[in-house]
Amino acid sequence: MNYIQTKVVITGGTGMVGNCIKTEINKDLNSNRIQYEFLSSKDVDLSNREAVLNYFKNKKYDYIIHLAANVGGLYKNMNGNAEIFSSNIKINENVLEACLKNDIGRGIFCLSSCIYPSKPSKFPMDETMIHEGPPHPSNEGYAYSKRMLEMQCRQYNEKYDTSFICVVPVNLYGPYDNFNLKDGHLLPMLMHRFHITRKYDEIVAYGTGKPLRQFLYAPDFAKIILRILFDTNVQGENIICCNNDEFTITTVVHNILDVMTMDKKNLKWLTEKADGCMKKTVSNKKLLTLYPDMKFTNFDDGLKETYDWFLNNYNNIRK
Ligand code: NDP
Repeated sequence: MNYIQTKVVITGGTGMVGNCIKTEINKDLNSNRIQYEFLSSKDVDLSNREAVLNYFKNKKYDYIIHLAANVGGLYKNMNGNAEIFSSNIKINENVLEACLKNDIGRGIFCLSSCIYPSKPSKFPMDETMIHEGPPHPSNEGYAYSKRMLEMQCRQYNEKYDTSFICVVPVNLYGPYDNFNLKDGHLLPMLMHRFHITRKYDEIVAYGTGKPLRQFLYAPDFAKIILRILFDTNVQGENIICCNNDEFTITTVVHNILDVMTMDKKNLKWLTEKADGCMKKTVSNKKLLTLYPDMKFTNFDDGLKETYDWFLNNYNNIRK
């Protein structure tokens, strides 16, 4: 049978979220009507303008999911603000230019809740508050690069009638995460550190444990992205993606230790280490108004699945 195939390109297709999208579409029996192309930096270095424009030329993509970014945890951000800003600005500018030049009029662009102001006028923060004040200094390079992406998508939607939708996830975790002990995000980094120090008398966590954080299981985020991409009721706008949970870092650490069946009495907090932003609560009101039936994975179940994946794939993970 002959039918026109819709083509979707996913930048950052080899990362955690890209892989979770791949897993999700593999479950969908109708997915052969849609052709997905998952890009890695080996296919094209998105920070290289000429390479990007050449790569996208004549590919006839209909939609884009733009995930690729120079991204990492608190310590990578603190040490790399300049480089992170520069590479993400280039990546985003090149990708947007390639979209315009190749008639890709609809797409999902990925921001992050940690780009929000560090001292907002109210909690929870909503979609209108992204630019309300400066971000936390620990990640200002990452935050401003993502804020510029939001501004550009909005300007292009106005001027070129595109429908570029910015999704704003909270901390993500799950299979395919980056478990690197230096550059990774809090949760995978802790899981890895606890794993390798399991046999010692003392295990350590950094900071006071007091900051509050929201977490979304990356496979849930993958489902949200696909749902929004094909939902014609959603046009160029921003949507925060999170569930209703918020935990202190202490609770997160304790839950990880429980899932790993490790004893909390061996835990020591290095309180002189940086905490990062103390609170950055965002609201899922808009997401749940759009999709009142949205289901989220329970935090402990997500942690368990992540830990199983980590153990089963230990030899090949990013560490
Ligand atoms: P990962 O670190 O797992 O993956 C990053 C991806 O970007 C990889 O596929 C990588 O390709 C690609 N990439 C990086 N630089 C380039 C480049 N110069 N050219 C081409 N590709 C490049 O990221 P996540 O899946 O965790 O994150 C996806 C999105 O979600 C990002 O935009 C991130 O900012 C955002 N986000 C993530 C959060 C989290 O907790 N992880 C929280 C909030 C937002 P390669 O594999 O070849 O290196």
